[in-house]
Amino acid sequence: MEKIIYNAIRCKRCNQIIESRTCHDFVVCRCGACAVDGGKDYLRRLFREQDCYEELSITEKEKR
Ligand SMILES: [Zn+2]
Repeated sequence: MEKIIYNAIRCKRCNQIIESRTCHDFVVCRCGACAVDGGKDYLRRLFREQDCYEELSITEKEKR
């Protein structure tokens, strides 16, 4: 299992960094090209084009 520490992307169009903090925290960047969702539960990305954002999220392998 991977644990999500930071769920965020940077939009290459408007240069805004958007972060989803909780599982239903849906955040759209200011130009509307991409969005993040899922908080610490899952990494969900919505975008108009695949290469319009840079991935910034940090995950960690959970120790057992
Ligand atoms: Zn944008």
